[in-house]
Amino acid sequence: MPIIQRLIGLGVDLSTKKALKKALDIIGLSPENIDRLYIELKNEIHRENFGKVAPKYKLVFLPQCLRKSRKCKAKLGEEGYDCIACSKDCRAAEIKRLGESAGYRVFIVPGGSMVSKIVAKYRPKAVVGIACMKELVMALDELRVPTHAVELLKDGCVETDVDMEKVRAALAI
Ligand code: SF4
Repeated sequence: MPIIQRLIGLGVDLSTKKALKKALDIIGLSPENIDRLYIELKNEIHRENFGKVAPKYKLVFLPQCLRKSRKCKAKLGEEGYDCIACSKDCRAAEIKRLGESAGYRVFIVPGGSMVSKIVAKYRPKAVVGIACMKELVMALDELRVPTHAVELLKDGCVETDVDMEKVRAALAI
């Protein structure tokens, strides 16, 4: 049985990375990458409830590193970078367009603390998070609504990238 189904089948708390570690101890497993397992597990656990929420009640968070950061003309405000579509091949702008045309509110944020403030303000019923693994794990530990997370293809904090098929799939759940 795949590990995620085994863990869900245990019927124990899996709401945080710490809880996941305890569950893994119960079944005597120590996977190579617990962070990735945690992200995949959360996506699976939340899939059904996440899918029941209409886009207008969901928020989408993108990391600032998906911008063309060296020439980005967006100003940073209280709700992240205000994209002015200055570049035709900017990943952040592409995802923002895609999300907004599907009815989502999309934010390009510099980090997790701004995510917390925006979530407290808008009180979404579900959240799509696109980020590096470390940021995703921190956000998934904190958020108390159904989530769907998409990990970046590369880290590095500057002009990163993401698998657009996974982003489209997240926006279509
Ligand atoms: S398109 Fe938007 S996010 Fe991308 S570089 Fe220009 S202003 Fe910045």
